Amino acid sequence: MDTVSEVRKGGSWLLENVGPSEVFTPEKLSDEHRLMAQTTDEFIDTEVLPNLDRLETKDWALARTLIRRCGELGLFGTNVPEQYGGLDLDKVSSLIVAEHIARSASFATTYGGQANLCILPIVLFGTEAQKQKYLPKLVAGELVGAYALSESGSGSDALAARTRATREPDGTWTLNGEKMWITNGGFADVIIVFGKVDGEHFTAFIVEKIFPGVSAGKEEHKMGLHGSSTTPILLQDAKVPADNVLGEIGKGHKVALNTLNFGRFKLGGMSVGGCRTAIGDAARYAAQRKQFGHPIASFGAIKHKLGEMTARTYAMESLTYRTAGLIDAALADTAHDGAAVAHAFEEYAVEASIAKVGGTETLDYVLDENVQIHGGNGYVRDYPAERYYRDARVNRIFEGTNEINRMLIPGMLIRRALKGELPLIPAAKRLQDEVLSPSAPATRFTDDASLDEELRTSASFKKVALIVLGTAMQTYGQKLNDEQEVLSYAADIMIDTYAAESAVLRARAAAAAAHPHADLHEAAARIFVNDAAQRLECAARSALAAMAEGDTLRTLLAALRRVLKVTPVNTVALRRRLAEATVERGRYILD
Ligand SMILES: Cc1cc2nc3c(=O)[nH]c(=O)nc-3n(C[C@H](O)[C@H](O)[C@H](O)COP(=O)(O)OP(=O)(O)OC[C@H]3O[C@@H](n4cnc5c(N)ncnc54)[C@H](O)[C@@H]3O)c2cc1C
Repeated sequence: MDTVSEVRKGGSWLLENVGPSEVFTPEKLSDEHRLMAQTTDEFIDTEVLPNLDRLETKDWALARTLIRRCGELGLFGTNVPEQYGGLDLDKVSSLIVAEHIARSASFATTYGGQANLCILPIVLFGTEAQKQKYLPKLVAGELVGAYALSESGSGSDALAARTRATREPDGTWTLNGEKMWITNGGFADVIIVFGKVDGEHFTAFIVEKIFPGVSAGKEEHKMGLHGSSTTPILLQDAKVPADNVLGEIGKGHKVALNTLNFGRFKLGGMSVGGCRTAIGDAARYAAQRKQFGHPIASFGAIKHKLGEMTARTYAMESLTYRTAGLIDAALADTAHDGAAVAHAFEEYAVEASIAKVGGTETLDYVLDENVQIHGGNGYVRDYPAERYYRDARVNRIFEGTNEINRMLIPGMLIRRALKGELPLIPAAKRLQDEVLSPSAPATRFTDDASLDEELRTSASFKKVALIVLGTAMQTYGQKLNDEQEVLSYAADIMIDTYAAESAVLRARAAAAAAHPHADLHEAAARIFVNDAAQRLECAARSALAAMAEGDTLRTLLAALRRVLKVTPVNTVALRRRLAEATVERGRYILD
């Protein structure tokens, strides 16, 4: 596989510029990767989509059969070592499976409950005996997995769980509590349950449904994802063997957070998969639906939508593959043991949260426009647009709400900077000196002359992010956590910055490789960068105005204007080109 050449630290993209050859892009997929995508697509086309109505009536026997089929096809084994029945492939492979399985959102959720939330924590934190006991059957799809962290009183504040674990004199555990909204709850066999030992020490346990005192509550009546089981899990004096603690007692947060780090990243990938499907549906519908004697695809307003849906998806796809490449590069020379993998996921936790927030919000935008392009047909159940729209809404709620992830994006970065793991603070300081007093010596942040227009612009986004982060750290110090609005603006700036640069680097790589659609890649990247500049300016102005006033604010805004000098491009023409190519091929074109 042609991977990134150098290991780069998580978050370092904010501080240094890289070349197009250094990032992983979907164009670099190997034959094995493409085969994995094809296998997943065929499974969804022939076995899941034709059975969706049955799944939506909660036919969990069918869901079980499909899980078994996933096991036979190797779709659960991408990140599991071979000795436990897995394939031990790279993270790009698991991103591919996630992206393609997302063509059925309900089944993708079932799949995710097993692969991301049950298999993964056992791979990362299980003892040898636990791995041998549970992984082969979970990977084969003979057992169904789930993950029970949330409770009615503790969702975002998951560490406030009330489920209690008590150690018995014989070393076994008794668990009492009620977990809420558990994916696969209705038919799971193995559940990763989080509770507090003696009401204090947050700990993960591997709990089997057949253990005495464990049961599932009634199915929730949900807005969407009707083909995925969501129930409470009831623990009433549940008996759990002594050996079924996962990880260490009191270290359940490590299990929970590391599991979610990768789950969030994969949810970003799943969102991209959902976008690609909807873009194809929208393009085909727009080509055949006629109004005023013309296909609606010929109208500028519809071209705008199709072009924008494609450009935003392109940016998100670029950033998820770039991140998978970074994780794979970090793991390339290490033993793939649980600790090394957990460490790599932690390293790129900022990027994972960016993928989650950026991906899920792009998906909701795309699916909303898909309904709009379908008009009245988008609002009725005869077309999938209506289901896609309902199914996707939860993505912004689970795996850490987007509000919580927005706090984490700048929060984790600043924490790493304070620990000395990332030179963010000196870089922000240097930049502030530079932009606030123009006579100060130039830093490498102004040394962008060698970059072309879009790369220079995305490099200028980094400066904007540093001005906002630097001002926030200086203004609020230890109290920055209390300033959620400013943190959210900073997160939005960082999401657009990482997405824009990833899109431009991919477009440049496509051009360098003389890709047949390099011009369309270029169009998508230019649209995204142009509009991101406007969003960034707006977010930065709002954040700075919340932190400064008078002369200081005026100086900061002048600095912002100096840094963010962007010449607008004709995005109308670029969107039309993307839309026309999408309609012509009847699918998402940038692959
Ligand atoms: C279909 C479905 C499947 C699910 N699957 C699982 C599963 O398999 N396992 C599992 O453990 N859980 C699962 N969940 C639960 C899900 O993870 C939680 O719903 C989610 O974490 C949010 O928690 P909550 O619902 O309690 O919302 P709350 O935490 O009450 O949040 C409500 C609102 O307040 C905001 N908010 C909360 N705290 C803060 C804060 N500090 N700062 C700013 N804003 C804040 C939130 O962002 C949100 O907008 C699932 C949920 C659904 C709907």
